[in-house]
Amino acid sequence: MSELTKAIKEKTESMLTADHCLSCTSCMAGCPVMEASREYRGPKLVGPAHNRMRFSQEDVEESLDFCSNCKSCDRACPSGVEVSTLNMLRRAEYYKTHPHSQRDDMLAHGERMAKLVRSMPFGASCANLGMKIGKSLGIFKSIGIAGERDMPAYASKSFLSMFKDIRQTSSEKKIVFYPGCFINENDPEVGVAFVKVMQKNGYEVLVDREFNCCGSPLVVTGYLDEALEHAHNNVARIYHWKQQGIPVVACCTSCSLMLKKEYHELFDEPEMKEAAENVYDAFEFLAMLEDEGKLNTKFGSLTHHLLYHVPCHLKSQGFGTPAAHILGKIPGIKVELADAGCCGMSGNYGFKQDKYDISMKIGERLFERIATSKADTVISDCGTCRLQIQHGGHVEPCHPVEILAKAYGEG
Ligand code: SF4
Ligand code: SF4
Repeated sequence: MSELTKAIKEKTESMLTADHCLSCTSCMAGCPVMEASREYRGPKLVGPAHNRMRFSQEDVEESLDFCSNCKSCDRACPSGVEVSTLNMLRRAEYYKTHPHSQRDDMLAHGERMAKLVRSMPFGASCANLGMKIGKSLGIFKSIGIAGERDMPAYASKSFLSMFKDIRQTSSEKKIVFYPGCFINENDPEVGVAFVKVMQKNGYEVLVDREFNCCGSPLVVTGYLDEALEHAHNNVARIYHWKQQGIPVVACCTSCSLMLKKEYHELFDEPEMKEAAENVYDAFEFLAMLEDEGKLNTKFGSLTHHLLYHVPCHLKSQGFGTPAAHILGKIPGIKVELADAGCCGMSGNYGFKQDKYDISMKIGERLFERIATSKADTVISDCGTCRLQIQHGGHVEPCHPVEILAKAYGEG
């Protein structure tokens, strides 16, 4: 029995939560996919109901494929059922006996692809050109990737390459920055802004090149064995820093959610829960500094009306919206919450041709908010939410930490 199969068979707190379902249907009312598509049979049935039955059945619920792992159902459930985790565990079981498509292999293994691209001279430029040509020739579409979308371009330099050239003042106060794949490969300026913000708060920022991708793209495409390998490596690295009293901080809310919460929900290993205590999302950490009276509030004046799309995976971390609170302290800044639900992108979900229409339908409320708001800038902490905002909202969003860096005169 593989390690993962053993873990799933023997476990687990997440699976046991299925027995707490009251059939109240709150999760169904909160599921954006169910609202956008009649093909998905919904979280109550696909999650707890089928999980209870499957202890004695081997049947397959085809519509499970429609779950985007947005986790809205988990937040809506009054009974603590970990619906999305039940779905991801069941999806992994499905792929034990069914082959993955070439499309899913590609979407799940962005880190592997990026390593290949970065190992070649002019790799980023060649890959970006290749993706443009591939799109115009319909090659991506032919393997099931939404032809309407652009694949995210590689930055000319990764964050980890840029990091070497950032001049920092050393400090006894240190944090380890976990950039994650999207910031490292596609949006390194977010990482640079974060380093500058932490320097302005008296922290020296370290990086750890032994970290892997958090594994979120692997989990949602059913590669749970590989995700477990990533989890073991990352948890060991988090422990290493924990022993030295140095916290690990991430700017991408899907990465921070995976490191803090999803590892132990999926794999149920006590070390994962303990390691999670040493991981913070960026604005969660900054809000802690503020609570302790240690946040640098010497902000310059900016003139911005911000529309803030709060990612689903930030809401699932349960610490409110500290970015709105902190940015709201900057003179000349007005922050308006978009309050428009899920953007519909959900990591790699919106890149799938067969999910593209659902993804865009879910995003309609947000696109409408962007079109009618008087805001001049849209902000969101999640990289793939920003891609969706760019694609469907036709604006150039940024990460809240980039606004904060500007307020410190570092933008
Ligand atoms: S994770 Fe999102 S898409 Fe999946 S069942 Fe829950 S609410 Fe619906
Ligand atoms: S919200 Fe929770 S308790 Fe209610 S139906 Fe869904 S899983 Fe069951």
